[in-house]
Amino acid sequence: MNDVRICRRCLLIESGRADVLEDIRRRIEKLTENEKTDSAEYEFRLAKCGECEFLADGTCLKCGCYPEFRAAFKKNKCPKSYW
Ligand code: SF4
Repeated sequence: MNDVRICRRCLLIESGRADVLEDIRRRIEKLTENEKTDSAEYEFRLAKCGECEFLADGTCLKCGCYPEFRAAFKKNKCPKSYW
């Protein structure tokens, strides 16, 4: 039997999923300045996700997104209004 471990309250950067994170970073680089969240707001959003009960293994269990990607869009909102 495989021992599957879920990293609770881990963003991708902490969960060792470097391939997914690299893909997300490439996609974020393609956003325009008007689309992209500024760095202070991005860090704030990820800090909130990092404390959130719905974060598991780099994924938001409320919306199914990768917070590192969702938070990068200025227009996006947290489904629980934490940011
Ligand atoms: S997007 Fe919102 S609900 Fe989802 S993990 Fe982040 S803070 Fe939690």
